[in-house]
Amino acid sequence: MKKWTIFICIFVVLVLGLIVVVKNKSEQCNLTSYNQILIYDDQRQILEGKEEVCFFNYTDNALTQLWLHLYPNAFRQGAKAKVVSLSNYEKAYPNGISYGNITIETVSYCDDYLEYEIAGEDENILNITIPELYPEETITFEIGFSCQLPNINHRFGYGENTINLGNYYPIMCVYENGEFKDDMYYSNGDPFYSKIADYSVSITYDESFVLASTGEQKTTIKDGRKTTNISAKNVRDFAMVLSNKFDAICDEYDNINIRYYYYEDENSDEIITLIKEVLDFNKRYGKYPYNELSVVKANFVHGGMEFPQMVLISDVLSDRDTYINVVVHELCHQWWYGVVGNDEVNFGFLDEGLTDYTTARFYDYYSKYNHTSTEIFENATRSYANFVKVYGDVKQNFSTNMIRPLGDFETENEYVYISYVKGMLMFASLQDLLGQKKIDSCLKYYYDCNKFSECKPDDLVDAFNKSCGKNLTKFFDSWFNGEVVMGEF
Ligand SMILES: [Zn+2]
Repeated sequence: MKKWTIFICIFVVLVLGLIVVVKNKSEQCNLTSYNQILIYDDQRQILEGKEEVCFFNYTDNALTQLWLHLYPNAFRQGAKAKVVSLSNYEKAYPNGISYGNITIETVSYCDDYLEYEIAGEDENILNITIPELYPEETITFEIGFSCQLPNINHRFGYGENTINLGNYYPIMCVYENGEFKDDMYYSNGDPFYSKIADYSVSITYDESFVLASTGEQKTTIKDGRKTTNISAKNVRDFAMVLSNKFDAICDEYDNINIRYYYYEDENSDEIITLIKEVLDFNKRYGKYPYNELSVVKANFVHGGMEFPQMVLISDVLSDRDTYINVVVHELCHQWWYGVVGNDEVNFGFLDEGLTDYTTARFYDYYSKYNHTSTEIFENATRSYANFVKVYGDVKQNFSTNMIRPLGDFETENEYVYISYVKGMLMFASLQDLLGQKKIDSCLKYYYDCNKFSECKPDDLVDAFNKSCGKNLTKFFDSWFNGEVVMGEF
């Protein structure tokens, strides 16, 4: 090799090295990361943990306090929040009422203890006092905690078949308009709002269990205990499910490891095929950006629940048709909630409406499931009109406004009709206006512009206005604020 060739090679290697270093540095710096070491005691249903949080100050303000959600406290005795509506009590608590919580044991920074208090309207916030942290600075602190799981078929709790570890850890509140958002838990909807972060989790548990989780796993076994190390990058949340009844079936699609964790399912292959079909269908909106995706059958009071890279599907759904529909719905959430995020407490319709719309559209491409979007939209229109009539007759000041917090919906029914059904019909109406091809390209634009961030209704309007060549602000406003009359489109 000639001397100048060697020189060029060294130069290229140095430049590439520099790019890698800068990239890693920026990746490390502008995202919060959570490193957790956890031990699960299945005799006492206690999860002991240490969490190191590396928080990047993305706000414009110097901060002296950091707020984190303590969702498990909604499950404690005496909580103001109800984790399930009264009508679901029996389904959620088949063995009678049961309580759980999270206890914060220590909060430390650089080997010193930090002052903290359990705050919020419902002991739902951990408020930590920190040395002044300027914008774009990072602080790393450690929280020692212990969770008592309740016996409940819910996101956080243990049931007959599965131990559901959702929302178990202290997670940073989102900072907006000069303050941290400290919303309480609600039985309606998914009362969560969080930013994209990196996770590194190690959990030790009895070897009889199989673990499903967000992220990429590596498991070792020693002295009857399994330890699983998990890495998940660029995700909005992190969750796990343990079960000593799980069978698992794995496959690969487009370099994505797909898994189905189940018990009592003679047609498990069908769910693997379904995952591939949903991944393929949603490509029109944008590529699934991760390498892992799991569907997990679980004890769960509602139909299903979305977490990044993992969805829970209830084991008490009435029939296969419903089971499949819930799987499609929860998987579509990976695009709308997971990658394009939103404040689910205040704008639940943004992800639920869009998820229901894309779920309906999915069926047009897979006729074997015997549904079409046309039939789904027609049925929904009829049933929504009926709901408006019945509610309008019995309720004073009845509103179909979509932009309102979870706490403003009096019943689960009201939330479902306004956020899911009306949300879906808003997109169906847009489809009538623009055509399928155009609405798909607008949604692709919305996805591309907002992936890994959090959207407000205005961001949706903006994306459509910019990408479809029409001013749709009035159209959206009339749907958002309740003026639209069903049957107009
Ligand atoms: Zn949903």
